[in-house]
Amino acid sequence: MDTKAFKRTLQHSENYNRKGFGHQAEVTTQLQSEYQSSLIQEIRDRNYVLERGDVTIRLAQAFGFCWGVERAVAMAYETRQHFPTERIWITNEIIHNPSVNQRMQEMQIGFIPVAAGKKDFSVVETGDVVILPAFGASVQEMQILHDQGCKIVDTTCPWVSKVWNTVEKHKKVAYTSIIHGKYKHEETVATSSFAGKYLIVLNLQEAQYVADYILHGGDRAEFLQKFAKACSAGFDPDQDLERVGIANQTTMLKGETEKIGKLFERTMMQKYGTTELNQHFQSFNTICDATQERQDAMLELVEQNVDLMVVIGGFNSSNTAQLQQIAAEKKIPSYHIDCVERIKSATTIEHRQLNGEIAIAQNWLPNGKIIVGVTSGASTPDKVVEDVIGKIFALKALVPVL
Ligand code: SF4
Repeated sequence: MDTKAFKRTLQHSENYNRKGFGHQAEVTTQLQSEYQSSLIQEIRDRNYVLERGDVTIRLAQAFGFCWGVERAVAMAYETRQHFPTERIWITNEIIHNPSVNQRMQEMQIGFIPVAAGKKDFSVVETGDVVILPAFGASVQEMQILHDQGCKIVDTTCPWVSKVWNTVEKHKKVAYTSIIHGKYKHEETVATSSFAGKYLIVLNLQEAQYVADYILHGGDRAEFLQKFAKACSAGFDPDQDLERVGIANQTTMLKGETEKIGKLFERTMMQKYGTTELNQHFQSFNTICDATQERQDAMLELVEQNVDLMVVIGGFNSSNTAQLQQIAAEKKIPSYHIDCVERIKSATTIEHRQLNGEIAIAQNWLPNGKIIVGVTSGASTPDKVVEDVIGKIFALKALVPVL
């Protein structure tokens, strides 16, 4: 498919909207009352520190809703206002946060059902309204919805679109896009749908494997098996790694994306020489500012003698997991939770580990005076952070002083 031509057609269609419907004022008031928090505002005003009893909360200086997420959620609310009686669907979670997605359901915005791992678009009828979430949708999904005569409300974050433009540029000059991301993540699925040849690497280790293959060759069958789910159809590592460009899932660890970019730059320089580098390597900066700011704030927070970290965000939120990884690398006890209900008591907490498993930790809240670092992912409303901080204060107030 000529994805560029299709997007142009789509964007000129009268059934397509990516700017909202002019109900910003009403929606802003509603969003403030549902998602914002006076306690969090108070902590911000106190230079991100709040002390009560034995507990000092240190909040990261950048955390929570990014503007891309705020924009997507506001557009979803506006869509409901603008189409009060139409059936409205969303192709996926609007953002990775359970409470926000719950609100979508309460507003009668339906999720496209998934059967045997595949979305079933047969539920969507001509004239229905379909919202594309902040991390986008694949070009194939957009085509299905366009052909079906749906009204499409596209909330894809402009930073994500920027990555799509980057892989389009790679495709135009027949470069393979090396995408730093998670092959199952919706954003990476969408990005790869706009790419020509592509290979998705999860981390620096996988990138090093690919770089070694470029320089020294290797076991082709092993390569293909390793990346079976993470490359374009018919990918041939012996042919398709001669010219590469770098792209990323916007929520990966920015330091790692930069290292991967540098690794491939060095690799191509080593293989083809400095003068030929531009014929074999392309890189554009597509790291999202919001991700960068939240990660930088976390890097500062872990230097502030915190006893433990609570990282709040959806369990399928990639950027939240990356924040926890920063705490783990510093060997600070850290707990990734998605809602206050995960805190069972002053001794027990249910949390997501870095390997994705849900675990129960005991004695997570130490006795005596403690400093708790708190941050939240880009799709977490302040209200959820407030609930968690409130619960920590309440639990510590109940623990007898020894
Ligand atoms: S994290 Fe960045 S790319 Fe993702 S929605 Fe927010 S602003 Fe957009």
